[in-house]
Amino acid sequence: MRPRKIPLRKCVACQQMMPKKQLIRIVRTPEEAILIDLTGKKAGRGAYLCGKVECFKLAKKTKALDRALKQPVGAEIYDQLEQDFIEVEDTFIANKDRNDDDE
Ligand SMILES: [Zn+2]
Repeated sequence: MRPRKIPLRKCVACQQMMPKKQLIRIVRTPEEAILIDLTGKKAGRGAYLCGKVECFKLAKKTKALDRALKQPVGAEIYDQLEQDFIEVEDTFIANKDRNDDDE
């Protein structure tokens, strides 16, 4: 029996490799909007963050998203994303537990 391969992605803030499901995807859409993508399936360039507000704050401080998305991210966009991040955090944590067995 071969162990199941878990896709790993790196958190752009703390640089930790984590299973994809434990990360929140931020996407830059083809329209150049920057949003949180809880489905992980939106088109565009993605960056991953641990599902923790602390990591978001770190990304904001170090401008990690600017680098990961290869686009300057304005302070107001970081503020907006931070609010969204806090809002989705609970949903994200709940879904994470529920979806752990699929794939
Ligand atoms: Zn992190």
